[in-house]
Amino acid sequence: MKRTLITGAAGFLGSHLCDRFIAEGHEVFAMDNLITGDLKNIEHLFPLENFTFYNHDVTNFVHVPGKLDYILHFASPASPIDYLKIPIQTLKVGALGTHNLLGLAKEKGARFMIASTSEIYGDPLVHPQTEEYYGNVNTIGPRGVYDEAKRFQESITMAYHRFHGLDTRIVRIFNTYGPRMRLNDGRVIPAFMGQALRGEDLTVFGDGSQTRSFCYVDDEIEGIYRLLMSDYTHPVNIGNPNEITIKDFAEEIIKLTGTDQKIIYKPLPKDDPMQRQPDITKAKEILGWEPKVGREEGMRKTFEYFKGLSKEDLEKTEHRDFTTHNKK
Ligand code: UDP
Repeated sequence: MKRTLITGAAGFLGSHLCDRFIAEGHEVFAMDNLITGDLKNIEHLFPLENFTFYNHDVTNFVHVPGKLDYILHFASPASPIDYLKIPIQTLKVGALGTHNLLGLAKEKGARFMIASTSEIYGDPLVHPQTEEYYGNVNTIGPRGVYDEAKRFQESITMAYHRFHGLDTRIVRIFNTYGPRMRLNDGRVIPAFMGQALRGEDLTVFGDGSQTRSFCYVDDEIEGIYRLLMSDYTHPVNIGNPNEITIKDFAEEIIKLTGTDQKIIYKPLPKDDPMQRQPDITKAKEILGWEPKVGREEGMRKTFEYFKGLSKEDLEKTEHRDFTTHNKK
């Protein structure tokens, strides 16, 4: 039986990865310190014999007894609200956490994958973004703690690959959505869905002309799994190239949810990327992967999930601190 360690296991992507690796017959060691993760996302796995949960902060020394075949480092705050609230932890989990886990991978002879991100491209000047683009990142802006941690994570992973011969994979994840997103993480999809369900107006930041390209979680997990199982060691974009402006997206959500609320406009957060779309030529060629779930179907499934949350969960919302925003 393959033995696989997944960090950030109680989070959105981490919990879906746990499900996938359990389904593939692995023994899964799930690690999370629950700062942003939620045990509800993985509690259905606790009765399984081949599932073990460690409540551990990977910025401290990490130990897992016995052999490990795969390590997937998916622990990190992943929303602009979180970066502002816990900036030091965001830097530490990307830097110190990655270093600890690389050490563990080396010790165990395990294949190592890091969750990188489209944020390493910053506010991109090249469109769509190919893996060859070096990015346009403000190191000292509010997103810098995440973007630079992720850039460092890629560098140290390649250093272990080149210097120690470690078997490594780097996935650059673009905006992904689906069930188990945290309702109060401030990102656009949970924000809009929460607002629609609470009967509030939808808050579009800036004039809404900025674009994103949203990938349904099942597609994302399939791409990640294929990359891990491939022999390709350079970064690969995994995301859905179907691009939309945030204003048009808000209108889609109003239609989907049937809310009679309207759009209201708020200041654009500082360093908010104006456009984002993955070039997935590499993923297509190397992994034979491309997304299959369209936005309408994916959003419908996601809305079903949010509709199922308790009233109490729905009220636990947080609002962005606009003091760090650009005046626009
Ligand atoms: N956004 C918005 N209203 C919200 C939350 C986000 O208009 O209530 C915008 C945000 O400014 C950004 C886009 O939606 O342009 C996506 O934001 P998110 O935080 O989901 O992810 P990002 O891709 O910026 O990391």
